[in-house]
Amino acid sequence: MAEIVIRNLRKEFGAFTAVKGSSFTIRDGEFFMLLGPSGCGKTTTLRMIAGLELPTSGEILIDGEDVSQKPASQRDIAMVFQMFALYPHLNVRRNISYPLVSQGVPKSQIAAKVAEVARILGIEDILDKPVGGLSGGDRQRVALGRAIVRNPKAFMMDEPLGALDAEFREHMAEELRALHDRMRATTVYVTHDQLEAMQMGDKIVVMNHGVVEQFGTPQEIYDHPATLFVADFIGSPAMNFLRFDGQARAGAQSIALGDTVMDLPQLQEDAAGALVLGVRPEHVTLADDALYRGRVEAAEYLGTTQIVTLSTAHGPVKARIPSGQVARVGEKVGLRLNARTLALFDANSGRAFR
Ligand code: ATP
Repeated sequence: MAEIVIRNLRKEFGAFTAVKGSSFTIRDGEFFMLLGPSGCGKTTTLRMIAGLELPTSGEILIDGEDVSQKPASQRDIAMVFQMFALYPHLNVRRNISYPLVSQGVPKSQIAAKVAEVARILGIEDILDKPVGGLSGGDRQRVALGRAIVRNPKAFMMDEPLGALDAEFREHMAEELRALHDRMRATTVYVTHDQLEAMQMGDKIVVMNHGVVEQFGTPQEIYDHPATLFVADFIGSPAMNFLRFDGQARAGAQSIALGDTVMDLPQLQEDAAGALVLGVRPEHVTLADDALYRGRVEAAEYLGTTQIVTLSTAHGPVKARIPSGQVARVGEKVGLRLNARTLALFDANSGRAFR
């Protein structure tokens, strides 16, 4: 399997720059997510790694070898397309063996390899069925089988579950993750779905407008977003943003938000000017004795929890609180923000203060 190092990777299409100098490392055996909104350059990045698109500048190293200018055929990487990229008139066995047949692998080896792949994917009983009549899940498994059978260095997947309905998608996501845990093959996976990225990924790169905003584990990205964009993109409901003018010195553990002093995780750098305090809805609690006040505007029941929307002097705030707790619309309540999990951003650059 393979480690993939991306250095200052850039892709221009005429006057338009789709990828603006990305750098990150995909470790051997990682399930690695390229996440971001439509048009941010995820697919272009994936296609450059696979060799389907050549970079304008920058480097792609696979196991230390610079493959940036090599064609796809010399990279030993498998693309897993959405399920409809199968040959509908061929049966499952022939779909899976196709890459080996076209490489001229001897028949006996092909039979053994297909049997092994079918066992891994649990599709031994449908090998002789035409793919045209298969369920969505089985087609997805066949598409995976066709990628696995070549034993490539790494797998590239571009929204492979994109065409599936929500429930089934979740099931296939679990199956894919379980398959990865068994095979431990380096996998790069493109998605615009932050939940999918958080659930499945060992690491995530968050992209926006061709720029890598942050690179880290799901927990690092959720707990310590590097930018306002990441903070807003990851999490549902989204992180709350309280906008204000203020200042805090390096070493400070509190900041004045209007008349209220908020506790903060200790800052390592000075913060001043137009600031944004970020707090996730699950880190806001309602407490009568809290000095910071808000008015309940709406409450959305979600079973064990409810999302309460409050208006404050610094904008709307959502709180995820136990559904048993009473929050009446129109009532003034105190809000307590969990100091350990607060994030502070520069409103102009969008960058988090550390
Ligand atoms: P999506 O999820 O919508 O596919 P993405 O993040 O994968 O989004 P890309 O497909 O990488 O985005 O495209 C990034 C930008 O580059 C888009 O604005 C797209 O229009 C542009 N682009 C991609 N391929 C080409 C091309 N061959 N020629 C010109 N522009 C392109």
